[in-house]
Amino acid sequence: MEKVLEVKNLHTSFFTHVGEVKAVRGVNIDIYQGEAVGIVGESGCGKSVTSLSIMRLVPPPGKIICGEIYFKGEDLLKKSEKEMQKIRGNKISMVFQDPMTSLNPVYTVGDQLMEPLRIHKKMDAKSARRQAIELLKAVGIPDPERRLNQYPHEFSGGMRQRVMIAMALSCQPELVIADEPTTALDVTIQAQILELLKQLKAEFNMSIMLITHDLGIVADLCSRVIVMYAGIIVEEGTTREIFYNPKHPYTWGLLKSIPRINMLSKERLIPIDGQPPDLLKPPQGCPFMPRCRYAMRICKEQCPGLYSVSESHKAACWLLDPRAPAVTWDREGVN
Ligand code: SF4
Ligand code: MG
Repeated sequence: MEKVLEVKNLHTSFFTHVGEVKAVRGVNIDIYQGEAVGIVGESGCGKSVTSLSIMRLVPPPGKIICGEIYFKGEDLLKKSEKEMQKIRGNKISMVFQDPMTSLNPVYTVGDQLMEPLRIHKKMDAKSARRQAIELLKAVGIPDPERRLNQYPHEFSGGMRQRVMIAMALSCQPELVIADEPTTALDVTIQAQILELLKQLKAEFNMSIMLITHDLGIVADLCSRVIVMYAGIIVEEGTTREIFYNPKHPYTWGLLKSIPRINMLSKERLIPIDGQPPDLLKPPQGCPFMPRCRYAMRICKEQCPGLYSVSESHKAACWLLDPRAPAVTWDREGVN
């Protein structure tokens, strides 16, 4: 399988008036063709900054400090802004959380769908229009010919998100980065959008990087999951490994906060107590230490490296050290 994206040792910081906020600290990600990978973590964990780094869209005062980002073998960090413009929306595209701010209110949906086709694919107006209609059909928008002439405010939230996906797909990108694409939507629409992404992934064999704070939504779409905390990857594995054999206490916390269908109404979802560390001064030990009930002395002194659990499964936790006390995870129990 061809590797579409390879991120190596990425560091991205924001240089604020109070100091350097180390938002992403040494992230490595591989995504293969046709594969969907979920990047999961609380807000501020560096998942969006990672995706903006890949697109080379980190806003000032942010800056990529070091690392390599290969898209089909080409180093994106060595590209000029002009070269990046040919890649964005064409070979790699993004779907954001809030389609109301990403769609332009003064242009019709048709104009906005046709623009990338005319720019990147050099289509004439007639073929771009035909293609735009096909795209709206592909994302399940009824009556596409009439819808093309409407403005974003004439669409519901779920329909706007579909339009965003149609725009992201218009040039048949090889990689789609979807950053919280369903967060603003209600549960039913959320399920429809995820199902749509799944269908489109199968149909176009594209790769997807799905960024979310909700581990629950990755299960169906993604074959692999990467869990981020405080700017680093704390666990990664196949979706099965993450759901059935999670190794990092932070992942345990994320799993506890997913609602279950058979949950009794008086049972509460368990949020993880405490706050992530201040990335102006990242701790020298494990960043999860202040919130971790299993913390040992070494956790405060030294940041754990990634331990391999299987060929596909790794976690950065001292509990995986052979010298550590045995702790087993139990979703139903006290852990
Ligand atoms: Fe908890 Fe220590 Fe593992 Fe960090 S390294 S998650 S503090 S047990
Ligand atoms: Mg975000």
